[in-house]
Amino acid sequence: MAVRERLVVIGNGMVGLRVLDRMVAGGGLEKWDVTVFGAEPHPALDRVNLTDFLHGTSARQLELKGSDWYEKHEIKLHTGDPVVLVDREEKVVHSQSGKRVPYDRLVFATGSHAFRPEIPGGDLEGVYVYRSLSDLRRIRSRAAGCGSVLIIGGGLLGLEAAEAFIKLGLRTHVVERGSGLMSKQLPLEASRILQSRIQESGVVVHNAQTTESIERRGEELVVVFKSGTCVKVGMVVFATGIRPCDELARACGLEVGPRGGIQVNERLETSDPMVYAVGECAAFKGAPYGLVLPGYEMADVLAENLHGGAAVFREPDQSAILKLEKIEVAAVGEFQSECPSYSSEFNGTYRRISVLGGRIVGAIEIGGWTEISRVREVIRKRRRIWPWNINRFIEQGLLWRPQVTADPADWPETAEVCNCMGICKREIVAACREGASSVPDIAARTGASSVCGSCAPVVSRIIGAPQDVVVEPRGGFALGLVSLLCLLILVPIAAFEMPVSDSVQRVSKIESLWSDHFVKQVTGFALVGLSVLSMVLSLRKRIRRFSLGDFGHWRVLHAGIGVGTLLVLFLHTGLHLGHNLNFLLGVNFLLLAGIGGMAGLVTAVERSMIDPWGRWLRKGWQSFHVALTWPLPVLVFFHAFASYYY
Ligand SMILES: Cc1cc2nc3c(=O)[nH]c(=O)nc-3n(C[C@H](O)[C@H](O)[C@H](O)COP(=O)(O)OP(=O)(O)OC[C@H]3O[C@@H](n4cnc5c(N)ncnc54)[C@H](O)[C@@H]3O)c2cc1C
Repeated sequence: MAVRERLVVIGNGMVGLRVLDRMVAGGGLEKWDVTVFGAEPHPALDRVNLTDFLHGTSARQLELKGSDWYEKHEIKLHTGDPVVLVDREEKVVHSQSGKRVPYDRLVFATGSHAFRPEIPGGDLEGVYVYRSLSDLRRIRSRAAGCGSVLIIGGGLLGLEAAEAFIKLGLRTHVVERGSGLMSKQLPLEASRILQSRIQESGVVVHNAQTTESIERRGEELVVVFKSGTCVKVGMVVFATGIRPCDELARACGLEVGPRGGIQVNERLETSDPMVYAVGECAAFKGAPYGLVLPGYEMADVLAENLHGGAAVFREPDQSAILKLEKIEVAAVGEFQSECPSYSSEFNGTYRRISVLGGRIVGAIEIGGWTEISRVREVIRKRRRIWPWNINRFIEQGLLWRPQVTADPADWPETAEVCNCMGICKREIVAACREGASSVPDIAARTGASSVCGSCAPVVSRIIGAPQDVVVEPRGGFALGLVSLLCLLILVPIAAFEMPVSDSVQRVSKIESLWSDHFVKQVTGFALVGLSVLSMVLSLRKRIRRFSLGDFGHWRVLHAGIGVGTLLVLFLHTGLHLGHNLNFLLGVNFLLLAGIGGMAGLVTAVERSMIDPWGRWLRKGWQSFHVALTWPLPVLVFFHAFASYYY
């Protein structure tokens, strides 16, 4: 049997365990004889979810792997036995209990310890930090009878603890030295919004207050601020940040970063290439990270390299998510970036994006944002966004057109739901409050979903009606047929001209239609009449009060008039479009009919096309059709003027 190399891991926390887990998964553990030392008396816990311990989750449930897992993979785990000395000359570690274990490779995964500021009274009974299971055990037993708590530090951890204490029924204060909560992640305006949401949940926030001392008065603790004010509570908890556990590494001569943490290169090697560091105790490019994800990325790189790979660690994603039940707070990507940013605030929510070179580089949200995972992906994949995305974000707080699959309950009040009638969510909600309880009710009161009907599922989600409500506009098949007819008629009209007789004596009957002055006048006025009628019909869609009859039927009639107009155009011109303005007018008519035919055809088949392509195509053809109506009155006016004047 081949001699196995000796690997010693100092620290059995989330990241130290991840290294081993990855090695097991990659099949690389067999060639190592592994020993792990953990200072805590239990196997690695899910520290990220440690707060659950206050609400009844047991220590066993928080364990990431039971001791049988270590046994199964022949990993020698020594819990409750911290390493106290590393002899790099001899390549041996010494533990507190007197164990002496030699190594070929050594991994530091010692994490961080909670920072306890040096405040008079900071070590009194009833004053705790919030980091380990033993801290939370003490906190939990004190919380049972103390009634109130003050948390020093309004960052991610302080706010998570505050929510936990509110749930335990404690009167909860949070003291923040800076001018706003989560000041490391949030701009001031966002901090204010967060603060008001946090206060709504019952937490008392003290901003811009520096704690001077903590005093005991009987059973209570009095926290005195530099401003002179003080707060009396039953318990004090420090959530004032962390410091990397690098003392052991310093003592054995490894290089540490300017802000603490064991210096590592991109292969996670320390200043001694046989010794590695991962997780919160490591400093990459001079900075230690206080989040689990960068630690996991380090662990993955190290596991691969211990298996013979050549992976490198790059600067990680430092997105921060505050895990509160009722308030969603996230800061993703380079949220502190100095580049141009756009923000949107409404109804107690806040969203901000930082944009560099047409790409979102960072984002912040408070209060929920259905697009946040898409935003994260766009940031990660460095995808481009466009000016209209930014415009929509400024106006509606959404970067992309809401999809029917996204939950419209989360849309802002100003989000447009029915594009045909220009109805926004606010109007639908208002109609709902007034008693509308179904999609047809909403359609009758606001007009939403009464036109093309594609927004009916969204309307039903907003009002909480059954999801399968789909309003199929009537006459879809007829519309498709008439539109197709229109296009078929258009081809010969656009392609051919009727022959012209070489003598006025031999004018054919049909030719007399467009050469006879009277008939020409009749067909000319008919053309104007049909055009006006067709435009008036389209008002049924745009003006809410015109709700006579079913829109689907009016739409077929509109298309039919288009076909009629083409036939009258034939009678009026004999397919000779003439020159100059007359030519422009003729082309305008033909394009109107052609584009209108396409719009009708796409509208008829939209529901069988993939969303959003069908919708985009319909909107595109319709907009083009509408745009072509604008020159028509001017051209008709000049045509009539020229005909009568000359
Ligand atoms: C309540 C709470 C909530 C959190 N929530 C989040 C979150 O939502 N998102 C997020 O990204 N991060 C969160 N974190 C931070 C996250 O838990 C850490 O980033 C992560 O645990 C770091 O893992 P680590 O292995 O580097 O350190 P740790 O998990 O601290 O493990 C290090 C281990 O090494 C041991 N050790 C130290 N010195 C020695 C020694 N000399 N000998 C032997 N053992 C030693 C320590 O006792 C410890 O068990 C939270 C932390 C807390 C406390």
